[in-house]
Amino acid sequence: MKLEDKLFLVRFQPDKTSHLHIVEGDICLKQCKEKPCTFFCPAKVYEWHDTEERIQTAYEGCLECGTCWIGCPYDNIDWSHPRGGFGVMYKFG
Ligand code: SF4
Ligand code: SF4
Repeated sequence: MKLEDKLFLVRFQPDKTSHLHIVEGDICLKQCKEKPCTFFCPAKVYEWHDTEERIQTAYEGCLECGTCWIGCPYDNIDWSHPRGGFGVMYKFG
């Protein structure tokens, strides 16, 4: 089974507010050329928006893999686990 097919089986209970935030948008814009968050996240939560010149986040699809804690070279992602009862549910995966 391909990874994409496995991810399709994962279910989510998204909270109303995000559990992850970009700390300083200017760092993404001016210092971080490679923008590794746009490819280290397996759920593609982070996407660079050319027009708005900022990282957009789709927190609802976060797989809670924890890569955010170590992946950003500028320590510019404020990530915590979602509140209890919210987030990813792996029982179908
Ligand atoms: S890796 Fe970090 S600093 Fe770079 S674009 Fe993503 S959030 Fe911004
Ligand atoms: S914890 Fe993992 S799945 Fe969630 S946003 Fe970070 S890299 Fe993506």
